[in-house]
Amino acid sequence: MKNPPFNYHRPATLTEALDLLAAHGDDAKVLAGGQSLLPVMALRLGRPDHVVDIAAIDELKHIATASGALSLGAMVRHAQAETSPMVAEHAPVVAAALPHVGHRAIRNRGTVVGSIAHADAAAEMPAVCLTLGATLHLASATGTREIAAADFFLGFFTTAALPEELVTSVTFPPWSATSGGAVVEISRRHGDYAMCGLACAIDVADGVIESAALSFFGVASTPIRVAEAEAIVVGQRPSPALFAQAAEVVADVLSPDSDIHATANHRRQIAAVLTRRGLAQSADQIGIPV
Ligand SMILES: Cc1cc2nc3c(=O)[nH]c(=O)nc-3n(C[C@H](O)[C@H](O)[C@H](O)COP(=O)(O)OP(=O)(O)OC[C@H]3O[C@@H](n4cnc5c(N)ncnc54)[C@H](O)[C@@H]3O)c2cc1C
Repeated sequence: MKNPPFNYHRPATLTEALDLLAAHGDDAKVLAGGQSLLPVMALRLGRPDHVVDIAAIDELKHIATASGALSLGAMVRHAQAETSPMVAEHAPVVAAALPHVGHRAIRNRGTVVGSIAHADAAAEMPAVCLTLGATLHLASATGTREIAAADFFLGFFTTAALPEELVTSVTFPPWSATSGGAVVEISRRHGDYAMCGLACAIDVADGVIESAALSFFGVASTPIRVAEAEAIVVGQRPSPALFAQAAEVVADVLSPDSDIHATANHRRQIAAVLTRRGLAQSADQIGIPV
C-alpha cells in the first residue's frame, strides 16, 4: 500500500528539527531510517500530517567515546554500528545484537536510536539498553533531559519521550575487561523478529559473578529484566548447574502471551534455554568455559 499524503520536512539542523516538532506536536513524527515508520504509515496504523526527516542533520551522526562510555547519535544506522570497531570494543553486547536486527537491507537504512525510540517489545536494541544500563538523551525546543533505559520503555511501542522531543543519542556505560555479554534469540527465520530473545551481561571478579543483567525481549509489552534469576547467579561461580537453576527461575517468573508465532509455554521453554546459552556465552567471553 502507498503512504497517505503528508507534509515532508528535511531540516538541516537540530534546532530546526526541534522547532518543527514544537510547532506540530502530536501531528508530527520523526523519520530516521523509515524501516518501521513507513510500514506503519502504509498500513494506516499511524497517520502523521508532518514527517520530520532527520537524515540531513550532521550533529546526529556521531559514534564517539567519552571516559569509556560509547555514544551513538540518532542518525547512526544499524550497519554503521555493526561494522564500527569502536562499538565492538566499547559495547560488545550492542555489536552482538546488530546482526539479529532484520536483514542487511533494513540495517543499511534503520538506525539504532530509531529502534530504541520505536520500542517494539520484540526488538533487540531496547533489551540491550536495559541490560547495559544505557541512557537516552532527549531534546526539545525548550531544553534537554536524560532518561535511564529502565525508565524509558513504558509499554508496547510506548516510551517516556514526549511528541515534541527528539532522542538525540544513546550512551552505553564503559565496558570492563571483567565483563562478558551475549545476545541470543530464537526466531523462525534469521532476520525475523524473535519469538523470544535475551540480552545478558555478567561481571566476574576472582571467579565469582559480581553482577548480572538478564533482559528478555518478545515476552512482555516491554523488554523485561528477571531480577530473581539475576539474584541466583550473583555471588556464585559460573557453572552449568548454576545457569540451569537460573533458567528454571526464568521459566517460572516470565508470563508471556501466546500468539500465532508461539504458545506461552513454548516461549517460557525458549527463555530457559536462552538463559543457559546466554550466560555460558557471557562467561566464555571472559575466559571461563562453562
Ligand atoms: C522486514 C523487517 C524486519 C525487521 N526486523 C527487525 C528485527 O528483527 N529486530 C529489530 O529490532 N527491528 C527489526 N526491524 C525494524 C528496524 O530495525 C527499524 O530500523 C527500527 O525499528 C526503527 O529504526 P528506523 O531508524 O528505521 O526508525 P523509523 O522507522 O524512522 O522510526 C520508527 C519510530 O521511531 C520514531 N523515531 C525514530 N527516530 C527517533 C528519534 N531520534 N527520536 C524520536 N523518535 C524517533 C519515529 O517517529 C517512529 O515512530 C525490521 C523492519 C522490517 C521492515
